[in-house]
Amino acid sequence: MTHIPKDHPRYASLITREKIAEGVQMGITSLQGLVAQGRGEAFDYLIGERTIESAAIAERVAVAYLLVAKRPVISVNGNTAALVPGALVSLADITGAKLEVNLFHRSDARIHRIIEHLKAHGAGSVLGSRGDARLDLSHERGIVDKEGIYTADVVLVPLEDGDRCQKLVEMGKIVIAIDLNPLSRTSLSATVTIVDNVTRALENMIHFTKEMKKNSQKQLQEVIDSYDNKKVIADAMYAIQEHLKNLAGREGIEWI
Ligand code: ATP
Repeated sequence: MTHIPKDHPRYASLITREKIAEGVQMGITSLQGLVAQGRGEAFDYLIGERTIESAAIAERVAVAYLLVAKRPVISVNGNTAALVPGALVSLADITGAKLEVNLFHRSDARIHRIIEHLKAHGAGSVLGSRGDARLDLSHERGIVDKEGIYTADVVLVPLEDGDRCQKLVEMGKIVIAIDLNPLSRTSLSATVTIVDNVTRALENMIHFTKEMKKNSQKQLQEVIDSYDNKKVIADAMYAIQEHLKNLAGREGIEWI
């Protein structure tokens, strides 16, 4: 990994790039994953590279769903495995969710490399290699494990493909998406849309889980019932607009 000085103004963003590039070198992340990361970076820039208030609300609701779920699953792709392997394992541990590898550019070798990578970060068992069930999709993200995503009631899908997100919702599952683009098909179709960088979102969710684990089922249900996903998406768009206005104002550029 290239050395990035800690005082570099874009330190966090550059480290993320290094991790994704390393993921490609390790055969965990696909080349196409680099492009997806680029799109994410652009949206993160627009939102101000911070967790906006409405994203923190969505993260709390996501945790409430994971804690009340009977069969929660966290779906892992090549980007998240490279960026946040330890956080995925920790979140699965404290919420009782299973981890399942699910890839758009699927190969047995890549699935196994990701499973081994998660195990090296402390995971026990990781699903995804069986592929003994199929969602009604024409691409390989439709291949899932019967005891995992196929029968899950709540699925966390960081960096998801819009088709599969819609399909999982159609199947009656609660789908929690983490996606920096508030307008992606994934964001617009998920039950809970977290417009935040996966690197921040997972750390926040781990923190919230530690707090909310003490809550009763009734209290968790109240958090869920008070939630409005459309409002959260609208708020993310507003946050982008306000951030751009502030930047323009700071530079003396008139906002028209
Ligand atoms: P959709 O099919 O939902 O419209 P898409 O085609 O725009 O999605 P994909 O390439 O399937 O996008 O997935 C990448 C998505 O993940 C993009 O919306 C991108 O903004 C988002 N993304 C990329 N990196 C991150 C990240 N580190 N954290 C959060 N979101 C990210």
